[in-house]
Amino acid sequence: MADKNVLIIGGGVAGLSAAVEFANLGIHVDLVEKSDFLGGHAISYACKAIHDTCVKCGACMVEEKLQSAVSHPNIKILTGSQLQNISKNHRFSASIRQKPLYIDREKCTNCGLCLDRCPVDRAILQGFSKNNHPFYAVNKEKCLYFKDQSCTICKDECPESAIGLDKNASEYAIEADAVLIAIGFQPFNPKDKPYGYGCFKNVVTGLELERMLKQSGGAKKPSDKKLPQKIAFVQCVGSRDAKVNHLWCSKVCCGSALRMARLIKERQPEIEITFFYMDVQTFGKDFEQFYREAREKIRMIRAIPGDFYEMEDHRLKVNFVNNSTHETVEEIFDLVVLSVGITPIEGIGSMSRMFRIGPDEFGFLKTNDKKISATINGVFTAGTVQGPMSIPETVAGARSAVWKIINYFIGLKR
Ligand SMILES: Cc1cc2nc3c(=O)[nH]c(=O)nc-3n(C[C@H](O)[C@H](O)[C@H](O)COP(=O)(O)OP(=O)(O)OC[C@H]3O[C@@H](n4cnc5c(N)ncnc54)[C@H](O)[C@@H]3O)c2cc1C
Repeated sequence: MADKNVLIIGGGVAGLSAAVEFANLGIHVDLVEKSDFLGGHAISYACKAIHDTCVKCGACMVEEKLQSAVSHPNIKILTGSQLQNISKNHRFSASIRQKPLYIDREKCTNCGLCLDRCPVDRAILQGFSKNNHPFYAVNKEKCLYFKDQSCTICKDECPESAIGLDKNASEYAIEADAVLIAIGFQPFNPKDKPYGYGCFKNVVTGLELERMLKQSGGAKKPSDKKLPQKIAFVQCVGSRDAKVNHLWCSKVCCGSALRMARLIKERQPEIEITFFYMDVQTFGKDFEQFYREAREKIRMIRAIPGDFYEMEDHRLKVNFVNNSTHETVEEIFDLVVLSVGITPIEGIGSMSRMFRIGPDEFGFLKTNDKKISATINGVFTAGTVQGPMSIPETVAGARSAVWKIINYFIGLKR
């Protein structure tokens, strides 16, 4: 197998897990990641352990996979890169385009000086991994050098001379024996729901709260960065929703939101938390005890609110129907968290066409679905590109995809 090479598209937890499995078996991997950073969505999730007791949120698994992948000699990682085209004769021949990398990851020591000294907000982007490169990236859209060449502070002050602002894009030709598509999911964009997302300052998504918890350790109101007194979590935003034709359950949101709510209650006990839900989806074998403890601290209301209204002080009026009295109730919250669901990623259509894999009825790509198979042998999928799944499920699914590919290689030799 040492002569085999696998092209993995997507450097989230699915792509990283598969890459590490292959690499440990002596198989070479080219891992192509579109964004500037590795780890996908899950690298931005906070550890939700309560008093050092693990609640199995899976967040640490991502950092672990990332650590193993970036240091493995059998894995070549191309960030900021995209597949341009691919053809298959005996092997796959792929051409990859990598945008200019202005920060040399081998030289960068994560000192953070570039971010500290940069005069423009978000011109230097910081990744979520604290321990593994790439740590920073230059955002060409905001950087003054790319506007009028008026600033080179980051380059001039970098003590390692790791920054070069005159770099060009690169092209790579990759030969592979199999391709694993692990391009992940897109969180549902709630801007068209009647919740004022994008307009009301204190309406955030579950993913934004994850990042807030990871970066600052607690919840705060985006409007003034102060502590909220009352937080509402609203479940099933963009999942099980006939109005947007997303009839599937995203499976991970109830667990994720309850764990975040419990973490907030533990760290900021003065905050009152209300959880609006349709029904709570179970997760893991310790769920019952976790749920019992959560309900002692969190007010659970079986209703999905209607429209929200923003008040002058940025608090939010939320209407919902009381299930016992059937009356409409209006309540005011300081922060509302929308539990957005998992939807097929934009760009799935071009992958589907390029590799001739039909999407399933919901738009996800599964090569192990009996009804839907790749018409090109040697193409496989893993992770949430196949549909909603948790981090542990993604890791297990990636391992299973690796063994399918090994079996495919064995079949080629016969
Ligand atoms: C709100 C929310 C909360 C969640 N909380 C939890 C939780 O607490 N616990 C849990 O277990 N799970 C949770 N999940 C699920 C978890 O996020 C997923 O299981 C995990 O991220 C799946 O990893 P992935 O690699 O399949 O996809 P992704 O994380 O989406 O990674 C895919 C990667 O592929 C890259 N990519 C995309 N297109 C291309 C392309 N064309 N070329 C190259 N690269 C590309 C992306 O940039 C990305 O890096 C949550 C999900 C949501 C929506």
